Amino acid sequence: MKPSIWLMEKWRIAMVVFAATLGGLLTNAWLISIILSLLAYIVWMHFKLQQFYLWVASGTRQNNAPDSDGIWDEINYQVLQTKNKSNDRKKRMNALLKRSQSILRSFPYATIVLNNRNEINWSNKKSEQLLNILKKDKGQRIDSLVRSPKLHKLLELGEIDEIEIESPKYPSEQLLLKLIVIDSNSKLLIVRDVSQRNKVQEMRKNFISNASHELRTPLTVILGYLEMIRADEKLPKSLFKAVDLSYEQSERMRSIINDLLTLSRLESANSIDDLSVNINMNKLVSHLCKDLDNEVVVNVSSDGVIFGIETEIISLCTNLIQNAIFYTPPKTKIIVSWRQDKENNSCFEVQDFGQGIAQKHLSKLTERFYRVDKGRSQGQGGTGLGLAIVWHIAQRHNAVLNIKSKVGEGSVFGVCFPTSTKLIK
Ligand code: ADP
Repeated sequence: MKPSIWLMEKWRIAMVVFAATLGGLLTNAWLISIILSLLAYIVWMHFKLQQFYLWVASGTRQNNAPDSDGIWDEINYQVLQTKNKSNDRKKRMNALLKRSQSILRSFPYATIVLNNRNEINWSNKKSEQLLNILKKDKGQRIDSLVRSPKLHKLLELGEIDEIEIESPKYPSEQLLLKLIVIDSNSKLLIVRDVSQRNKVQEMRKNFISNASHELRTPLTVILGYLEMIRADEKLPKSLFKAVDLSYEQSERMRSIINDLLTLSRLESANSIDDLSVNINMNKLVSHLCKDLDNEVVVNVSSDGVIFGIETEIISLCTNLIQNAIFYTPPKTKIIVSWRQDKENNSCFEVQDFGQGIAQKHLSKLTERFYRVDKGRSQGQGGTGLGLAIVWHIAQRHNAVLNIKSKVGEGSVFGVCFPTSTKLIK
């Protein structure tokens, strides 16, 4: 604040004191003179205060600011400055809001802003196309406009953040809904049409499945003939190696085709309920581990029954046990266990003390045909599809595949079934 302002105020007070003293000296009525001088000052202050109030009440416009000097001029100036700053901020916020809304409006996905009661606060044009949500639906609950148990789960339970549903407008189309929680009061629902993507995926699955089926028959014929040739005593010695190699490679091809067909089946089968039975895991694990060459320690400590598809569970366990044997030197210890973990899940676990796997490979192991050491896997008849199959089977049983490994120390492959999979129907 400028020092001259306070100087002016000091002058004003000095004038009041001067007037009171002059009045006192001239009239000798000191008290009346002081009271009158103070009253004059208070009336003047009151007038200024009223002027200020009226100005503030009428919207603090610059052109009708009260004509003042001293402290009142400074107060008016500060009020105007604050107002201008807040106007600037408001303008900037409005521009930002408009920009964000125009970005969301031109988004190629349906975008809906919901409040904590799942009522629509804002939606873009694409929401009308995909979900039939119109401008007038503002304030309505989204789950009363789009009826789907999956949507209810997405909004209320918060266990998942993505679901796929049929379009309420065109049932042949599929929509992917992703929920983003912004804060305790608002959520963003982003919806996109995935029908085309699903069609391409379906075509890819069908192609792999059909190609595998088509290849299986000629391969069976080739294998049959190769077996016959191998068994022929008149086969010239010079051809032994070539025939053996052809037979070995054809067998490998058969394994790959079988694994591809298994994967296609796992991918296209949706529900496991119809084929599921109670599986006694204690018995199954002990049965799978008997007669194995390596030093296998079976460690069964869970009560052991799960509800699932037995052939798939056998394939899951066999794949993990076989991998442990493949990637571990002969006669090395392998621990196969069926046990309860800290969260009460039942886990099937295979621990080996073999070569281990470097950290960078772990997240990719369940990809199709991903091998850490291609030569070694192929040399031992591996197809590169075993862990992809294990992952799919685990998914279908709501189980989780965990892989831990350290180079030189060995690996632990575990599949944990949640308590709900232990349903005994
Ligand atoms: P494969 O048929 O080649 O064994 P998988 O899908 O079963 O295919 O395994 C993928 C890759 O993971 C393997 O090629 C191997 O490199 C690695 N792997 C799997 N299990 C083990 C294990 N127990 N120890 C070390 N490496 C393993």
